[in-house]
Amino acid sequence: MRLSDEELDRYARQIVLPQVGGIGQKKLKAARVAMIGAGGIGSAVIPALSGAGVGELTIVDDDQVELGNLHRQPLFRERDAGYSKADLALQFVQRLNRFVKATPVQVRIGADNAAELLADHDLVIDGSDNFATRLAVSDACVGLGIALVSAAAVQFQGQVGLFRSKPCYRCFVGDAFDSDDCDNCAELGVLGALPATVGSFAALLAINSICGIGEDQSGQVHLFDGEKLSWRAIRIPADPECRACGLTLELPISLR
Ligand SMILES: [Zn+2]
Repeated sequence: MRLSDEELDRYARQIVLPQVGGIGQKKLKAARVAMIGAGGIGSAVIPALSGAGVGELTIVDDDQVELGNLHRQPLFRERDAGYSKADLALQFVQRLNRFVKATPVQVRIGADNAAELLADHDLVIDGSDNFATRLAVSDACVGLGIALVSAAAVQFQGQVGLFRSKPCYRCFVGDAFDSDDCDNCAELGVLGALPATVGSFAALLAINSICGIGEDQSGQVHLFDGEKLSWRAIRIPADPECRACGLTLELPISLR
């Protein structure tokens, strides 16, 4: 894989970073990433990843834009109300960077179809708004051996974690939420700038993970308090009884 002169120009400010360089830029170009949800988290992740030059970006969202989304979803405009978020996100990516192959998927992802939708990706970023979807996405990633960045923002609280099979997101939250939509924004509210903060962190985590920058962050969840304006990280122990990853082996670093 090589980078054209235009790509070298376009990405010059990150290729000049020794942690990225031409090798990291080629890793980004080779990466096939799936974004679950083109909402508040997706509105930060999709521009960051497509600007950075990921090769393929699948955008899974079955929802349409509503007026009440606009305070936290700057991918969209007033005139977009009623239109498909996945299709609008595709148009955004095409206008930003024609080197990114984006694919919109207007399907509600769940336990029945997650493995099929996520196969053939290298990394999944989950920005969906409920536990049932997040657990279904996590279980599929464990089954497929795909790295998962799981990000959520509600009220003033955010969390972002990188999971590589074991421990998994289910080890973190347990089984109680499989059929539970109790945490969605419509009921609890969310400050508009919060998903942008959490989504940008998720994008950075994804890019660092793809390029191999910094220490491996897998198995850690980063918690953001939007009132105190502070981050803290907690390490998640693998649950030996976990019904998703309990039987899988922890991948040695060299195979990650
Ligand atoms: Zn687990």
